Amino acid sequence: MRAALLHGPGDLRVEEVAEPEGEVLVRVAAATACGTDVKMLRHGHRVLEPYPARFGHETAGVREDTGERVLVGDSVACGTCPPCCAGRPQVCRAMRWVLGGFAERIAAPAAALHAIPDGLDLPGAAMPEPLAACVHAVARAGRSDAADAADVAVLGGGTMGLMIARLLVLEGRDVTLCDRHPERRAQAEALGARAVERLAAHDLVFEAVGRPEAWRAAVEAAAPGGTVVLVGGCPGGTDVSLAAGALHYDELDVRGAFHHSRAEVDSAIGLLAFGAIDWRALAGETVGLDALGEALARPAGGEARKLIVDPSA
Ligand SMILES: [Zn+2]
Ligand SMILES: [Zn+2]
Repeated sequence: MRAALLHGPGDLRVEEVAEPEGEVLVRVAAATACGTDVKMLRHGHRVLEPYPARFGHETAGVREDTGERVLVGDSVACGTCPPCCAGRPQVCRAMRWVLGGFAERIAAPAAALHAIPDGLDLPGAAMPEPLAACVHAVARAGRSDAADAADVAVLGGGTMGLMIARLLVLEGRDVTLCDRHPERRAQAEALGARAVERLAAHDLVFEAVGRPEAWRAAVEAAAPGGTVVLVGGCPGGTDVSLAAGALHYDELDVRGAFHHSRAEVDSAIGLLAFGAIDWRALAGETVGLDALGEALARPAGGEARKLIVDPSA
């Protein structure tokens, strides 16, 4: 079968490879791409296997054994480590990653699979992974002092920022999204948020960019006593300096949000299947495996839309 393999930073090759081995074989119908895939291509990533490595972690397809349509979840938490026992599987210490969606077939443990409801098309069925991380980010704020804040801001209008904004609009909050691209501000407004080029002070701020300067800007945009949720991941090992005055004298609550649980993936599937989140508003062009490398290397700009890979195209 054909698969996209990473051979090193910036080195993506589409090759004929052996069938993947694992519990359940799934024929990939749609695999969506995100900033993590761009990072994996450019710099490698801690969750990749040694090179040559398969990647692609937002994957929907059809089980070869039963014909059932499934989302292939990108991870299975161990269930026994201290965070898992404490109900925090997002930070499992022994996470089993399931990568390889950019291929004609992927093998996955049955525990990673989720049934796709009728009526949800396969490209949309590949998107619960990032949406589940957004569901988790909103839940992280729900356990803070700003849990019920009406005035909420989102810094960054990429697909994650837009998903977070939409979830907050659905909760009836007054949402302001900040992005320098006018096309993304227009997308945010279409989802029911207000859109600005610069944030003022807000009770609850979600950062969805993943760069040190954006983390600092999110802290600066929090009102005294407010909460900041850092959703965008800076590369591990990055030192980020934050304003001590705001953290201490303004009693800011700054918290990270990473990944998702199996239940959060199921919530995300429901939101996409029943139309609360319109995946078509976030869907971009569809490419085959051969065009993937060029598409991931293209500079981001304009509207925020997810690349869809159809391995049979
Ligand atoms: Zn992703
Ligand atoms: Zn665990």
